[in-house]
Amino acid sequence: MADIIQLLPDHVANQIAAGEVVQRPASVVKELLENAIDADAAMIKLVVKDAGKTLIHVIDNGKGMSGTDARLSFERHATSKIRSAEDLFSLNTKGFRGEALASIAAIAHVELKSKQEEDELGTHIEIEGSEIKSQEVTVTPKGTSIAVKHLFYNIPARRNFLKSNTVELRHIIDEFHRVALAHPDITFSMYHNGSESFNLPKSNYRQRVVNIFGNKANEKLVPVEEETEVLKISGFVGKPEFAKRTKTEQFFFVNNRFIKSGYLNHAVNAAYDGLIKDGSHPSYFLKLTVDPKTIDINIHPTKTEIKFDDEHTLYAILRSSVKHSLGQFNIAPVLDFDRDSNLDTPYTYKQRQAITPSVEVDRDFNPFQSGASMKVSPIKTFKREPVGQWDSLYVGLESKGTQTHSNFNEVQFESQSHDGALFNDETSLKTANTTYQLHNKYIISTIKSGMMILDQHRAHQRVLYEGLLKSMTIKEAVSQQLLFPLQLQFSTTEMEQLKELREDLEHTGFVFSEFSNANVEITGVPINVSESEVERILDQLLSDVQDEVPDANFSATDLLAKSMAKSLAIKTGQSMTAMEQEHLVNSLFACKAPSVAPDNRVTFITMSVEDFDKKFM
Ligand code: ADP
Ligand code: MG
Repeated sequence: MADIIQLLPDHVANQIAAGEVVQRPASVVKELLENAIDADAAMIKLVVKDAGKTLIHVIDNGKGMSGTDARLSFERHATSKIRSAEDLFSLNTKGFRGEALASIAAIAHVELKSKQEEDELGTHIEIEGSEIKSQEVTVTPKGTSIAVKHLFYNIPARRNFLKSNTVELRHIIDEFHRVALAHPDITFSMYHNGSESFNLPKSNYRQRVVNIFGNKANEKLVPVEEETEVLKISGFVGKPEFAKRTKTEQFFFVNNRFIKSGYLNHAVNAAYDGLIKDGSHPSYFLKLTVDPKTIDINIHPTKTEIKFDDEHTLYAILRSSVKHSLGQFNIAPVLDFDRDSNLDTPYTYKQRQAITPSVEVDRDFNPFQSGASMKVSPIKTFKREPVGQWDSLYVGLESKGTQTHSNFNEVQFESQSHDGALFNDETSLKTANTTYQLHNKYIISTIKSGMMILDQHRAHQRVLYEGLLKSMTIKEAVSQQLLFPLQLQFSTTEMEQLKELREDLEHTGFVFSEFSNANVEITGVPINVSESEVERILDQLLSDVQDEVPDANFSATDLLAKSMAKSLAIKTGQSMTAMEQEHLVNSLFACKAPSVAPDNRVTFITMSVEDFDKKFM
């Protein structure tokens, strides 16, 4: 048989390798920004169109390239950063594999302009799918400008695999933040679709954090500084009360390189033990410096994981220095191994004034006075007016009369719709619309074949979801005017995400009078939303955008409808009147897909009379 092995042509090899380096537009952003940093740029500008799908353009004022180098930079394994294997152990550059530009040029249209300080003229190269289209001498300022257009133009499968612009832009912003945070001494700016998203002048680290995450970040930062033989830590952690629902503000940099580490994250979380609620996440912006020899240098350039020689020690140092910082700033009990931690005052109590106990007595209260007050269940009344009820409780215990008896009924059924229906006459059982609420969680309704049990929270989510989708699609939302405009502040990242969702939000009934860099002013809200809920709804929405791992049919409209439905739906634990229960059942069955909630969990189950019969055999 003839020989069958061949060497792959370069452009094919490049395309295959590109798959490893370039997963999405954000990967290109990362590579280009890092090259600019390696070229000692003092100023770096990132311009993006359509979340990088149409254009990613990085301009720097770094050292530039000679004509020959510019041409060579697109060759595989062409790098100026290492010359021998030993260099790998004293790396101080971001890149070293010489693969990024070759990979990017294999799957996009690339236009490069570059000039070194000492040269009169620069170089202009155009390259498409690894093929040089032109190389000319050109007038251009010192530094390098690389424009990457039509990413994946020759690999339709990958192009189709890209997510929505909202999601791809989020990844780009994430990369931009990581690089900008690691290098506060460099001026960065970013533009998306013609408008400025970030403008970050050269500054100190704290200022950089604030410039990215908004002014409100400033008051919440607690400095962390520690220097030991094996590890230097510097940076900031967020005060516990500012812990967020999302993990968007968690950053570790090791030797100025962003990394992800579940282990180190655990160490920081451990320092917050008992200080923050479950499900919320502390912010941190921590820079660790270790001897490069103690970390695995063979980390893949596109991966953010890292391997340390002595993880346990790092864990312990990190945890105790964060804890110490929180303590120093009077936020947590100071680290003290000999003290019984049970004796520590929780930090929230520290600044609290002692409250003088007072007893309020309602002298007009007469438990025997009116029948009306008896209709309210005792549990409810007690919750609403805990202070005023001491008297009445006492009185109630004394007189074991009819009152206790009638209230007993109410507690048993937790519903105002039962009113003896279970025992009275058969006819009420036959009425299709009889409903009962069970444990403030389920609605039970009789149906022809037997009975139906409905999860109130999920069912209501389905009803709201379809309603919201409808009003967003036909763009005919009704909104209620607020008496006073509501002012809300967001970080720049959050604003970027809100901008993407603005139109959809308006179609649900939100009216915005201002939508600037950090401020949102709201003058109208959807008809079923109360003013006090607005901030929570938007917070939830941002957190959902963050968590979403969208598939190809991701739609911002759908996400918004889901998120708002979740926020607004009747919660488990909420008691409902008979009318509300009935209305919910009817609305659910008017839905297109009544059987599942927007997240595909079942909304109701049915049990037939035969099912019961079997149980009673
Ligand atoms: P690596 O960064 O791993 O060396 P790249 O493919 O990213 O590989 O870049 C190849 C080479 O091109 C770099 O080593 C560098 O010499 C040169 N280069 C790339 N981008 C720039 C830039 N913005 N300014 C100056 N030189 C650059
Ligand atoms: Mg590089």
